[in-house]
Amino acid sequence: MKPIQEIFPLLQQPRKVVITMHQKPDADAMGSALGLYHLLKLLGHEVTVISPTNWAEWLKWMKGSELVMDYEFNSSKANAVLQEATWIFCLDFNALFRTRHMEQPLAKAPAERILIDHHQHPQTACFAYGISDTNKSSTCEMVYDFIVESGHGDKINLAIAECLYAGVMADTGSFRFSSATASVHRMVADLKDRNLDHTRIHEELYDNFLENRLRFIGYALQSRMDVYYEYNTALISIPWKDLVRFQIKTGDTEGLVNYPLSIQGIKLAALIIDRDEEIKCSFRSKGNFDVNTFARTYFEGGGHFNAAGGRSSDSLEQTVQRFIKAMKENASQLQ
Ligand code: 5GP
Ligand code: MN
Repeated sequence: MKPIQEIFPLLQQPRKVVITMHQKPDADAMGSALGLYHLLKLLGHEVTVISPTNWAEWLKWMKGSELVMDYEFNSSKANAVLQEATWIFCLDFNALFRTRHMEQPLAKAPAERILIDHHQHPQTACFAYGISDTNKSSTCEMVYDFIVESGHGDKINLAIAECLYAGVMADTGSFRFSSATASVHRMVADLKDRNLDHTRIHEELYDNFLENRLRFIGYALQSRMDVYYEYNTALISIPWKDLVRFQIKTGDTEGLVNYPLSIQGIKLAALIIDRDEEIKCSFRSKGNFDVNTFARTYFEGGGHFNAAGGRSSDSLEQTVQRFIKAMKENASQLQ
């Protein structure tokens, strides 16, 4: 993988570009993709954003999201666009399998793949150019750096500022994690100078749910959470029937995993959900417990030191048992 700076001079020549991100894109994945989309359009490129799957309703306020293609919904058209592209930007993921059914089409596309990402263990061999930096708060921060360092900082308009702010805000836990560095705050100051209304973005992301989602969270915390004080760990496990009962849609479970961390002393929080296609796992930690390694070791996943995800093809009950066993194996780091 060559350094991303090598494409800066090439940005002047209009190309056919695809931008994609990980499946079930969150605010950082969608915000970074659309932030970059707006910049590349201003530079005269023909750009298509393709999401590997659908995404949450509460991301649909982002400018340009109405133009994003859903690969699962329209794979033949998306495949044609992928075949024609000469650049494919891969944002907020670093291994092709994280694009689910797009993995093979991405691998086979003739385009040069360009990585911008902050997760651990990048598969650098898959990318012609790129930047991977686990110290960065978010891919949105990296897209901001990309825009400024390539000499296009003056082109950051309100649409770009809003998309990038959303991802930084979401990935830093609204600026509370240690990843919210002085440069993150300087970036936000710059976006504020460009008329960003940050209160509106917080409301769009966090005060934009339907009643059923809040009722579901109440129910999950009351009835589906187990706390293992001996291991400073809490687990929420959600059976499929709860998702049906509360009419849970993509994105409605986002953030649920963080609640148990507000219990005094809890170092590890886990959320295991029986989705239709597979069991989805989310892990969050405080301090020195490494959930990236934990997810990688026990749940075919990965991510960051304090936030990671994984999966299981066993039943919910078996996955919960696997989690409890894994927690006990890690007792010394958790106690
Ligand atoms: P979440 O629990 O919100 O799905 O994921 C937490 C963090 O871990 C996010 O940054 C997400 O992109 C990342 N993540 C989730 N699943 C995986 C995975 O299977 N592999 C890797 N490398 N990262 C993941
Ligand atoms: Mn991210």
